[in-house]
Amino acid sequence: MSDRVSRLVAVFVLAPMLSAHAQSRPTFDGLDWSALTTEAVGLLSEYIRINTTNPPGNELAGARFLKRVFDREGIEAQILDTTELGVGRANFYARLRGRGGKRAVALVHHIDVVPADRRFWTVDPFAGIVQDGYVWGRGAIDFKGQGIAHLVAMLALKRSGIALTRDVVFIANADEELLGARGAAVFVQRHADLLRDVEYVINEGAWNRIENGRLLFYSVAVAEKMNFSQRLTVRGTPGHGSRPNNDNPVLALLPALDSLARFEAPLTLTPVVARYFREIAPMYGGEQRQWLEDVGAALTNDRARAWILSDPAWHAYLRNTVQITVLTASDKTNLVPAEASAELDIRLLPGTDTAMFLASLRRVVPDPRVKWTRIFPVKSALDGPMETDLFRAVERLARERDPGALVAPLLVPGGTDMPWYRPLGIIAHGVDPFRLERSEQQRGLHGNDERVPVTSIGSGVRFVYDLLRSLQ
Ligand SMILES: [Zn+2]
Repeated sequence: MSDRVSRLVAVFVLAPMLSAHAQSRPTFDGLDWSALTTEAVGLLSEYIRINTTNPPGNELAGARFLKRVFDREGIEAQILDTTELGVGRANFYARLRGRGGKRAVALVHHIDVVPADRRFWTVDPFAGIVQDGYVWGRGAIDFKGQGIAHLVAMLALKRSGIALTRDVVFIANADEELLGARGAAVFVQRHADLLRDVEYVINEGAWNRIENGRLLFYSVAVAEKMNFSQRLTVRGTPGHGSRPNNDNPVLALLPALDSLARFEAPLTLTPVVARYFREIAPMYGGEQRQWLEDVGAALTNDRARAWILSDPAWHAYLRNTVQITVLTASDKTNLVPAEASAELDIRLLPGTDTAMFLASLRRVVPDPRVKWTRIFPVKSALDGPMETDLFRAVERLARERDPGALVAPLLVPGGTDMPWYRPLGIIAHGVDPFRLERSEQQRGLHGNDERVPVTSIGSGVRFVYDLLRSLQ
């Protein structure tokens, strides 16, 4: 679909929806939220059309797009790290200056997206199509949609002329989606000066639960599991498959994997997870509610424990996990390989001693022929704090918008860029500005037909704007 056609579609689809969901009259700060929503939808379409599938990333094109928008608005902005990140890649930084007084807050997203296979999509994933009340495309949720909500909220702040006590920083990083990604790592390492006055980073990892149109709870991601993935390698003697060979490395690898498949780390309740369950307990009734109010006690009760662990996300919150994923050995039936290897996706709760955990795995696999190597560089641990002005600002905003909604701190079982910012003393929280039904949320997690409702973009921009104002 051409740009012109998709813009026309946007106008026709948006017009009736906006009148229902946003005031078109300027508000006290002189802002026209209906116009800002239309602007955000147009910018998101444009951003999605810049294909930043990683690999190769091509984030430089995304950074140039962002720079044009900030330049137009007269907000200082820089494209950074092009040499360090390699051809076609870049980080991006912009800053809206206040009068000082309080430390800065940084809105951080990543420019790259995961691949999308056109065959499984209803629409072209890189056309930025606006249709049926949604903006469709790879990145609509993860993470270009939120990036645009950050961006337009900043434009709105600038245009409102409100005096800021905190500078508002906007950062777009390259290369987040691949394991071992370097975008944020390079940014933090090279630009500590730009981050010196930053108190908070607002990033991804949180999600809000909506059922039948009602927002039940907001989450704020404050902690993250550590990726401690390992490769197991066994060397042996290669040969022809027709001859018996006891030094076939596969024979040593299989029992090691069999033992690891049965390994189960002990259940561990961290303070963030305990509070998460306590906060969401009111969504449940009867004994389930009691169990969640005191998960520590519930885990000693067989029925309660079985119920809690039957949810894979909750299970991941409560223990270190080891999953066997990649297997490599011979690629020919008649060839005994010289080497066999396996990769383990290992996620550790914050606070885990990595050396001790590795020692416990080695006890499960006592065979000295099995060599262990760390696959990715370890990020800093991210484990709270929860008692922050940013967390409280989300709580206040949640209560205003959705009376009765709960606000819970979250442990991210996967990985985000948040831990990269932690060594600089910055407090990073994942905050989700969108209002997505659970099914949409799931699709956003690298699925097909990723899309975000136009109404959510409008309310998302407003959410970020209100959050930034409330932090002033
Ligand atoms: Zn993401």
